[in-house]
Amino acid sequence: MKTCPIPTARSAFSLCVRRRPRRQASNGKRVMNDFVLSSPQEFRRLPGLFRRWELAQVLEAGEDYHIEDAGTTSDGTMVFAIYRRVPALWECKSLNDKSWKDTVKRGVVISKPIYAAQIATYQAYMEASVPGISQSPALFTAINKDTAELHHELVPFNGGLAQMASDKAVRIIRAIEAGELLPRIAQSADFHECRFCSWSDRCWRIGDGR
Ligand code: SF4
Repeated sequence: MKTCPIPTARSAFSLCVRRRPRRQASNGKRVMNDFVLSSPQEFRRLPGLFRRWELAQVLEAGEDYHIEDAGTTSDGTMVFAIYRRVPALWECKSLNDKSWKDTVKRGVVISKPIYAAQIATYQAYMEASVPGISQSPALFTAINKDTAELHHELVPFNGGLAQMASDKAVRIIRAIEAGELLPRIAQSADFHECRFCSWSDRCWRIGDGR
């Protein structure tokens, strides 16, 4: 992997996604490009500006920083801005053209609420192993499967959504353990989510009258 050419001193993500040369599938069809990812983390600026001799008081051993020249004070003393690297979640999905365009237009939270719940849940449950991951917005990337266009957006952590998704999962597991059949999501098997559901056959064969 090459070094990312994008400067890292940004309050936004330092993620670098680079497109590899387009590949051709064995059947001659175009296939989706590969992407190279580096450093799915964010630099956050520490409040204030610091003089050279103050840097040692601020910088902590083992942390990753970027320091930028921020000009001089009225007495000519040089001051610096400090950015500290913090962990962030990167979630990437590939979508067909119609779905991708809707995500770009309305944003992932409204267009793809299941992905948003997934992101929030990852951030909540990864906090123990990656401290700070829920304090930074996640970076969501959507790849257009038809055109290889990329869409990126930052998704702030939504603790309420993570809790709601987690509670729902617990309710489902408890119902299964108790042998209960939960209501179906739809009235007939041709509902679009049921048509793509891996358990559709079983679901619509059993438990009539739910
Ligand atoms: S087929 Fe799948 S999505 Fe549809 S109601 Fe059954 S479990 Fe839910």
